[in-house]
Order: sequence, then C-alpha cells, then structure tokens
Amino acid sequence: MPQRWVGRVAALFVATVVAFATVQPATAASISTQPMAVRFAAVNGWEIGTLAYPGDEPRVVLYLSRQTAAGVALATEGTAEFEALSREAGVALAGTRGGELLATTKSLGAGASVSAALGLPWTDGKAWRLTGGPHNNAGKSKHPWSSLDFNGPASGGSYKVRAARGGIVVRPCANLVQIRHGGGWTTSYYHLKTIQVRAGQSIDRGSLLGYTSTKAGCGGSANGPHVHFSVLKNGSHVNLNGLSIGGWTVKEGSGQYYGCLVRNGAKKCAPGGSVYNSGAIGTG
Ligand SMILES: [Zn+2]
Repeated sequence: MPQRWVGRVAALFVATVVAFATVQPATAASISTQPMAVRFAAVNGWEIGTLAYPGDEPRVVLYLSRQTAAGVALATEGTAEFEALSREAGVALAGTRGGELLATTKSLGAGASVSAALGLPWTDGKAWRLTGGPHNNAGKSKHPWSSLDFNGPASGGSYKVRAARGGIVVRPCANLVQIRHGGGWTTSYYHLKTIQVRAGQSIDRGSLLGYTSTKAGCGGSANGPHVHFSVLKNGSHVNLNGLSIGGWTVKEGSGQYYGCLVRNGAKKCAPGGSVYNSGAIGTG
C-alpha cells in the first residue's frame, strides 16, 4: 500500500487550500478538513495519487504532479489543468501502475464507458435493506445526492461488501475503498472494516472489499453498521436519481435519505426497503 506521506503535493496545498498539519492516519479525535495525500505511484518526476478531505463524509480527488527544473506542476481531477497535464503524463507513465490509474480518468478514457454499468455492492442472490435513500456525500441538503446507505438483513449486523464493478482500487483514507472503473466512473464504499483489498489491486465485479461497520476513520459518523455507497464521474459526485444500479432504478425522495429503488413494478423505499440483488448490471 502507498505510504501516507508528507511531500511536495501536501506542501503545495498548504499555500493553496488549507493549513496542513499532518498526514498521519486519521483518528476520530484528529478528524478535520485537512487533506490527506496518498501517493499511488511515482515515475520519472511524475506522481499520481489521491487527496482525501475528511468531513461528514470524505471527498476524494486524484492529483497529478510533475517535478521539473522549473518547479512543480500540480493539478486535481476535474480541472482543465489536470486534463492538460494528463496528456503528457499518459506518455510518461505508459506501462506503469500509475499509467493504469491515469487511464481510468476521463482525460484518457473518454468515451470508453458511457454507462456506469454497476451491480449492487453485495453478494448476488441476497437481499439487503436500503437504510438511506439518495443523499449528499457531505451530509448537506444540496445536490448532488450521490450516495445510498445499505446494510444486510439484520440491523446491527456486519456484512460482506462487494465491488459493484471491476477496476483499480485506491485507498484514500481509513475505512474507505474506492474503485476506479474507467471512462471516468468511480464507486466509493465508506464505513468498511476489515478491508480485503490493497491500493493498486485490479479487481473484478463482486470482489470482497470489506465488511459493513460504523467505523468512520475519514470523518463523519454512522449510527449503525452500513456501507455508504457513492458514485462519481470525473472526480465529482453525481446525482443517482434515474441511474440504474443492479437493474434497479434510483428514485430520489422529497428529502435526503428518503426515496426508493424501483424494478419491474416493485418499489423498495428507505428506510428499510428490502432490495434483492439478482446479479443484474445497470444500464444507466
Ligand atoms: Zn450515507
């Protein structure tokens, strides 16, 4: 796993984002809005990794940096600067692990994946409860409502969370796994314990990621064990309303955490609606 590290990326963010004190693994007592940098790969002056901003729910972006005699160029995913830098980096990082990660971004994977093509994040043939309908990743009421909360049948139980689609694993901060699927799509799984995958690993749909819990090592809190499941495109959270996940279409409610999953006339609503995973893949 890449080490958490205080490097030039972090140093730059001191000046440009917020005061930066530490990138030690976060504990409940130390959670703040300070970004945590995790270097994924470094090749020939290039670096690629994740910056995580702990909060009510963590926000994560990829960064790309290049050291030259003239200084450091740095950009984060979702910006024009990142796209420009990634075109150069794509050549420099070709054939490396960092290049594989970069290839999952929109910049180099544009058009490769129009659909998110997501399954449900648990074992096929099982039903889980929709404990929270579409809501904002950061606990705010404004859109995008990019996240759903799920847990297995027994309230308080801990259950196996699985990859909604294959891709490359990143581990931006504690209790959080993200999978970079390609074409700019990313899925995010928070409140996991006993995580079973490592950063840089290529995994298939259905791979075991970890177990639902109340752990919140990257900020926020959880009342009961669940997975906070989010979808991102090009580094930004997206509205789930209308998206098909595992053959179920997401319908947002009148407020956050309400809403339903709908399939073939069946309507399963939060809190507590029982959602069956047939193994179908979403088309939206
Ligand atoms: Zn949530």
